[in-house]
Amino acid sequence: MKAFVKHGKEPGQAAIMDVPRPEPGPGEVLVKVAGAGICGSDLHAFNSDPGYEFVTPPVILGHELAGVVVETGPGVDPEMVGRHVTAMAIQGCLKCSTCLAGDSNLCLDRQVIGLHFDGAMAAFSVVKAEQILPLPDKLDLRLATLVEPVSVALHALRRTVIRPGDKVVVSGPGPIGLFCAGLAKLHGAKVLLLGMNSDATVRLPAAQRLGVETAIVEGESPEELVRSTFGGVADLFIEASGAVPALKSGFSLVRRGGTILIVALYNREMTWFPSPAVRDELSLLLSYASTMRDYQQAISLMADQAMDFSALAQQFPLENAEDAFQEALAGQLLKPVLVV
Ligand SMILES: [Zn+2]
Ligand SMILES: [Zn+2]
Repeated sequence: MKAFVKHGKEPGQAAIMDVPRPEPGPGEVLVKVAGAGICGSDLHAFNSDPGYEFVTPPVILGHELAGVVVETGPGVDPEMVGRHVTAMAIQGCLKCSTCLAGDSNLCLDRQVIGLHFDGAMAAFSVVKAEQILPLPDKLDLRLATLVEPVSVALHALRRTVIRPGDKVVVSGPGPIGLFCAGLAKLHGAKVLLLGMNSDATVRLPAAQRLGVETAIVEGESPEELVRSTFGGVADLFIEASGAVPALKSGFSLVRRGGTILIVALYNREMTWFPSPAVRDELSLLLSYASTMRDYQQAISLMADQAMDFSALAQQFPLENAEDAFQEALAGQLLKPVLVV
């Protein structure tokens, strides 16, 4: 079968290859893949970035998947064949107290499908039955590849409370920032999404189609942009860009008693003088990945078409994975999805 394989430790050593179709072992199912999203972490793995040394080639990338169960391994209910499913990207052990409390994203033994072991950028993928979630038939299978990034945005928003009328600034119109902005809007918030000049052609117009206000911060004062949009400071600042200067700017964009919510990863340290934030009694919240509960909420929101999720996805045939990765690295895409 065709698969997109990270085949060497050097940056960019990944290609479409012919590999044997995997067999489901005990407790596993074989999924015929409909699509697999390209995530920021896939780009880091593709580039062999620092922090991704744990990825040991050869490994098939892809953790944002949707497909149909076509075979079950020993110990798995054969009735599962034919079901539309997605799978948890970050897989906890499901046995420790953290997992049992529902926080599998924080499990000490967590592993990521498509990074620690073979993933879904392939015609078929083997997944543990206990890590899959059923999808309703009415949810388009290729669109369902967005369940994971939507669940990450939902998890982040669940860290705080958004009330109708709240003023929310989202920094960074990558997929997670776009979903956070769209979902905050669904909560009834007034949302301003901040991007760069390079976001002007694709990402910010996509946000505008969801009814989100946008602005380009490059060469502007973020304080001034927020004041002119909201007539004052924000209640909540969501940092989804992964840029340290953007995170630093957030502290002067929220009101006293306001909240800074971080849902990005960074490639360098930040110096920060905390006293003004202490005097303003800001809440600082950090969010990582998502849990089963967030997946379930993402699935029902998407099945109910709570917003036009399809407006945020761009499809590429699996064979063109390398081109899709290069374009995604250039930062010009919405959510890229490889379809099989
Ligand atoms: Zn992802
Ligand atoms: Zn665990």
